[in-house]
Amino acid sequence: MERKVRVRFAPSPTGPLHIGGARTALYNYLFARQHGGEMILRIEDTDSQRFVPGAEEYINESLKWLGIGIDEGVKEGGNYGPYRQSERRDIYREHVKQLLDSGKAYIAFDTPEELDAARQATQNFQYDASTRMSMRNSLSMPKEEVDKLIAEGAKYVVRFKIEPGRAVKVDDLLRGEVTIKSDILDDKVLYKSADDLPTYHLANIVDDHLMEVSHVIRGEEWLPSAPLHVLLYEAFGWTDTMPRFVHLPLLLKPDGKGKLSKRDGDRLGFPVFPLEWHDPKSGEISSGYREKGYLPEAVVNFLALLGWNPGDDTEIMSMDELIGKFSFDHCSRAGAKFAFEKGKWFNHMYLQSKSDTELAELFIPVLEREGVDTAAFSQDYIAKATGMVKGRVNFVGELWDNAKFFFRAPDSYEAKSVKKRWTEGMGGIMAELIGVLEGFEDFTSPEIEPCVLGWIEKKGYHLGNVMNAFRLAVVGECKGPHMFDITALLGKAETISRLRTAIERLGFGPATVE
Ligand code: GLU
Repeated sequence: MERKVRVRFAPSPTGPLHIGGARTALYNYLFARQHGGEMILRIEDTDSQRFVPGAEEYINESLKWLGIGIDEGVKEGGNYGPYRQSERRDIYREHVKQLLDSGKAYIAFDTPEELDAARQATQNFQYDASTRMSMRNSLSMPKEEVDKLIAEGAKYVVRFKIEPGRAVKVDDLLRGEVTIKSDILDDKVLYKSADDLPTYHLANIVDDHLMEVSHVIRGEEWLPSAPLHVLLYEAFGWTDTMPRFVHLPLLLKPDGKGKLSKRDGDRLGFPVFPLEWHDPKSGEISSGYREKGYLPEAVVNFLALLGWNPGDDTEIMSMDELIGKFSFDHCSRAGAKFAFEKGKWFNHMYLQSKSDTELAELFIPVLEREGVDTAAFSQDYIAKATGMVKGRVNFVGELWDNAKFFFRAPDSYEAKSVKKRWTEGMGGIMAELIGVLEGFEDFTSPEIEPCVLGWIEKKGYHLGNVMNAFRLAVVGECKGPHMFDITALLGKAETISRLRTAIERLGFGPATVE
């Protein structure tokens, strides 16, 4: 019988959500939505040593920003809660007891020093069938002694009793069936009395079972734990409802081999976290995609294609399109290189797909930060200015550098261009140009362009020099959109005033550049 699709994203709040974790969450979400299933967010906070304040909120905010919707979780509620593992101690305690009672697990008292000594004495020591009888546990010690130690409050752990000689089959949707020998596994710790908490392995299995998870979609780094998880399902008698496993390929460094790390981001200048993260302990700030000016749709699209493709070369896909097309059949098993330059390209493409008005909305806060009184400009003016330069930028923040002259007359002129273009007599030619422009009622580009060009030709002036000097006076440098589109938006008065200022400052030419 087909099970209802229920997936979970199960981060540990040990720090900010890594971009690889965001991809795992995204794939879970796409799969759940495609199958009309449910997406659970489970907070795996059983490692009290590594708990970081603020990490859970960070995870929630990141998923929200990316548009990854959660159906059941700490905030959302649901019928399978609590969704924070630290609030499920009773459940785990009961399941630990079940394994102890059925002889599938045992109690061990070995101190860290004793375990160290065992490692010293035996090369490649592993706590398993070959060594457990020489250690201090409920299998090697008389029951009375075990009871006495517990009554005295001795600290202990519960270990899973792995039977050697078993062939353990892990069925992975991406990797097929992998068989490993149980002999290579050690008797993993499932529970620690010291903090009355289970370890990841036990908590994970118990919760996936109780929350009726149908597919465990997670990073490849968890693949080595999968055989142990299979054996745990068996030990509980839950084999029939074991979820299907999917271990996603690693994200790799953009250059060279190996796993993508925060250091690669620092070295090559890209964020590895969705949002900026302020480390509560060190005070260190790590950059985030949101604060760097990425659009969430672009990040989602970029992440979706790191390890999956739609079967053709379509690249731009909205969340809904991704939901429609996603399939594990087109997921790769090999690691995906984190091509961050491609991320910029996605952002560029998503920016272009926004209307000038939408983009202007995003640009306004930047203008205000730069001290522009945006109320002095009409919505339409800002939208047109934005539209003229958007093709040149990857990020909203870059609009300022490309469009600032629409909002502020140049306060200086780029020296190299002055030297090259403000040639002998150029100030006089610009004064003449003012005269030409003053004659226009309609200042649109189709009106002015042919006349100005005709005037240059008639006078026998150098077209490149005159047009570049004109641009220099209006923009401050020799780049930007089509000159007559610029002047049409700036209007007659502003264009002429800028020409006058340039003549005043640069003289009649050649200009003396210090
Ligand atoms: N808590 C684990 C993590 O931090 C979950 C791994 C899993 O999905 O089983 O990634």
